[in-house]
Amino acid sequence: CGVIGIFDKTLDIPRYLYWGLFALQHRGQESGGIALTDGHDIHTYRGMGLISTVFEKGVPEDLGGHIGIGHVRYSTTGSNNPRNIQPLAVYSSFGQIALAHNGNLTNTRELREELDASGVTFQTTMDTELIVNLISRSRQNTIVERIKESMNRIQGAFSIVAMTKDRLYGIRDAYGFRPLCIGRTTTGGWVIASETCGLDALGATFVRDVQPGEVVEISEDGVKSYFYGKADRKQVCSFEYIYFARPDSVIDGQDIYQARLNMGKEMWNETQYDADLVISVPDSGNTAAIGYSMASGIPFNHGLIKNRYMGRTFIKPNQKERELAVRMKLNVVKSVVQGKRIVMVDDSIVRGTTSGIICKMLREAGAREVYMCVSAPPIMYSCFYGIDTSVRKELIASALSVEEIRKYIGVDKLHFISIDGLCRAIPGIPKEDLCLACFNNDYPTDIPVTNEEGEKY
Ligand code: 5GP
Ligand code: SF4
Ligand code: MG
Repeated sequence: CGVIGIFDKTLDIPRYLYWGLFALQHRGQESGGIALTDGHDIHTYRGMGLISTVFEKGVPEDLGGHIGIGHVRYSTTGSNNPRNIQPLAVYSSFGQIALAHNGNLTNTRELREELDASGVTFQTTMDTELIVNLISRSRQNTIVERIKESMNRIQGAFSIVAMTKDRLYGIRDAYGFRPLCIGRTTTGGWVIASETCGLDALGATFVRDVQPGEVVEISEDGVKSYFYGKADRKQVCSFEYIYFARPDSVIDGQDIYQARLNMGKEMWNETQYDADLVISVPDSGNTAAIGYSMASGIPFNHGLIKNRYMGRTFIKPNQKERELAVRMKLNVVKSVVQGKRIVMVDDSIVRGTTSGIICKMLREAGAREVYMCVSAPPIMYSCFYGIDTSVRKELIASALSVEEIRKYIGVDKLHFISIDGLCRAIPGIPKEDLCLACFNNDYPTDIPVTNEEGEKY
């Protein structure tokens, strides 16, 4: 998911939230929404689909308040259901609070059971509802204390923006799995966003990242920082650098674009394939492919063209539709690939659907050899921290060896970046501070043993 919060006395808050969410759209396309205040009440405006669809009749009128938050949803916990759209606003003893959340909690079941037992009823299946419940039921005196107490009860990954009628909050879990940063608007206000590309879109200047375990409170009195807890280590999601974040963002001091170029270079060092051409699987493979080409001297060209009016194919409900979607989304430029030995670069192999179909299309177009390089190591374990690879049996690398995957997708050679190569490609984050759990099974937290349906992971 993507989150944004704005505190600014002069800006047209609804319009700026809209633009900010537009810049964060890659983080979730299922639904979206914003929360605004008129200085007394908080109102939410939410809908299914892309932000442009949610607000196709225009953004709501500026209610005159100077705070707002927004969210784009990528479904992990809580099915793709209209009731699960964020932000979520509730009344509590201290007034209204609205909250939007990116990430995934790992102790949802325990907390839900506990709250159920004390008579709380839930309207959604979202983690977000648990979080607002904890905050509103806390007996602490100030909102910051309530937030701090609640954050110590929840476990897992969360980057949160929250608002009351006069305050904006940014919160990051103690491991820092998901990104969250703070920027300054040109009019002296503040923005909190999932990625720096969200700040750039608003003409805001990057100030700093929210720190793991930090609660930032923005009010009339400026910015205040509180810490509620510290994890034994930082664990920034390495998959943000590989795939999820936009290449023009910088997360925790590491430029995403440079990291992806480095991944290409590392893959060249690891493979040294003798080939005529480097192509990418657009758009997610683009930067690493350029990196491979730059390091190897093998020319890069556009061998695959993406239909830019399609959404992300991964986010389709079943296998059959996913296959159709690949052919709709990508087409081969015959004149570029014909007769060539090709290095094809993509960011990840999840189920293995995309690569198999593309390889077939390249061969139909006359490619002589297809060597595939993947800038994520084999994804063998589920992510419990907000990336939707959570059903282990669907991960091709959890069942098949690299050689078996190579045969399955039909390429002549297949290479996955090594974990060490990946870490070298992200020099801004020390290796011990990167989460690599879906690659190496080293989960920094306790993980649930069964999913919401009670199936074993
Ligand atoms: P596959 O066909 O192997 O299941 O999916 C791999 C492709 O899905 C890659 O091209 C990758 O860019 C894309 N992809 C889109 N969304 C996601 C996502 O949320 N997670 C992962 N791991 N890959 C995704
Ligand atoms: Fe990221 Fe993988 Fe860790 Fe999930 S398990 S947070 S996708 S590195
Ligand atoms: Mg892709």
